[in-house]
Amino acid sequence: MKVALVGIGKIALDQHVPAIAGSEDWDLACTVSRNGRVEGVQAFTDIHQMLAERPDVTVVSLALPPVPRFVAAQAALSAGRHVMLEKPPGATLAEVQSLQQIAKEAGLSLYTTWHSRMAQAVAPAKAWLADKVVTAARITWREDVRKWHPGQDWVFEPGGMGVFDPGINALSILTEILPGPVHLQSAELEFPSNRQTPIAARLTFSGNVLADFDWRQVGPQTWDIAVETTSGRLDLRMGGNVLEVDGKPVAGENTIMGEYPALYARMAELVRAGRSEVDLAPMIHVADAMTLGRRLTTDAFQF
Ligand code: NAP
Repeated sequence: MKVALVGIGKIALDQHVPAIAGSEDWDLACTVSRNGRVEGVQAFTDIHQMLAERPDVTVVSLALPPVPRFVAAQAALSAGRHVMLEKPPGATLAEVQSLQQIAKEAGLSLYTTWHSRMAQAVAPAKAWLADKVVTAARITWREDVRKWHPGQDWVFEPGGMGVFDPGINALSILTEILPGPVHLQSAELEFPSNRQTPIAARLTFSGNVLADFDWRQVGPQTWDIAVETTSGRLDLRMGGNVLEVDGKPVAGENTIMGEYPALYARMAELVRAGRSEVDLAPMIHVADAMTLGRRLTTDAFQF
């Protein structure tokens, strides 16, 4: 299938381009980006022009930041193309629901990807927890924003989500592996005095579930989820790639390189089956935290 990749920036070049190149399902037919391009691939700077000139491209994959994504997704669906959305799937919940409706009416596939759910140990963790009674869980997601989002001011602008940009990855895993739903009860959000989105957040959910997100961690990075059950303890480490049960490694490997190939394989399945996959559960928790969270002001942040 021919795919157009839109928004040639960090994640497009780090993960999407290699995942497409390594798949027999996909042919990177063209890109759309104002500045970025992929060598040897036809490059457009305007999505409307691409849609008009490349009717043979049946799928559009959007690796833009969340705020400009809706307009591009709407244009692609309206032009009869299947659409794959980077996480988080939009800047608001309602805009993603609109896209879902447009896709449904047009008989097109819409896929809200959650790359962390494709981490190697997530499916084994879900299987292990399926028949357990969960008594508590703790997410610790602490990373260095300067390393993962160098100079990307959009993460601190409205709609950029701040520390929830990585934190939503943890929430995508949590909502996938827990045997039942949880809901947010309270939150503390730390906003740098010169920014519009939080740089750290501490969330309390029902069921003794806590999350600690921080974007100021230098040195070793932490992407851990610990789940206590009445029959043992599960630890997901390295962003869902390594699983330990009662302190012993049981599944996974410390690499994220399988996540994006798995997303593109899933998109190929969805298009062939004429289906969509739209899950807003991780983003609902973020919206709830922004609604209910207590705002604290902290030191100004500069890249
Ligand atoms: P990025 O490099 O800042 O943005 C991707 C590209 O989108 C930019 O290079 C830019 O290309 C285009 N763009 C940026 N702002 C735009 C705007 N207002 N209007 C139109 N185009 C715009 O960001 P990224 O890190 O790749 O992240 C993109 C998405 O991937 C985000 O939703 C993020 O959560 C997700 N993601 C990121 C990472 C990561 O490690 N960074 C990991 C997984 C997922 P042009 O200037 O060429 O148009």
